[in-house]
Amino acid sequence: MRPITESDVRSSFVNCSKGEAKRLGVPHDLDEQPWDDLDFLGWRDPGAPGRGYLIAERDGSLVGIALRAAPGASRGFTSRSMCSLCLTTHTSGGVALMSARRTGEAGRQGNTVGAYLCTDLACSLYTRGKKQPAVAGDLDETLSVEEKIARTQVNLAAFVDRVIKG
Ligand SMILES: [Zn+2]
Repeated sequence: MRPITESDVRSSFVNCSKGEAKRLGVPHDLDEQPWDDLDFLGWRDPGAPGRGYLIAERDGSLVGIALRAAPGASRGFTSRSMCSLCLTTHTSGGVALMSARRTGEAGRQGNTVGAYLCTDLACSLYTRGKKQPAVAGDLDETLSVEEKIARTQVNLAAFVDRVIKG
């Protein structure tokens, strides 16, 4: 994705209030993000445990989505689980169930979209083999990196659409 600035980040959020978007913790190293290798910018809020954020490009504009990790989702979680965006398999704690409030009327009624996502939201890097899960998955994949990138982007677009279009 193209490099974005802190003000781009703050003005991109579609599912939280303007006040929340203004206060949330934006990464300090935006200048150093590996933008060419990112399908989306994702990070956990260091000041607010359980909160995470994801910014993707959709139809040429930025869509920022605030996420909340389900409390206790990783507790006693010994089996492997898979991220629904990049399909990376992680062991305990590497995947979290996160929910995003939907936009519009559905969101006002408390409607959310849930998905299992890499806890560190580094799906783009796992997709490209630039980051490895703590324990290598045993899924024997024959897809090329380009095919994996295409798959992650399709899954990402579908997730964003569920949040903004229902
Ligand atoms: Zn992932």
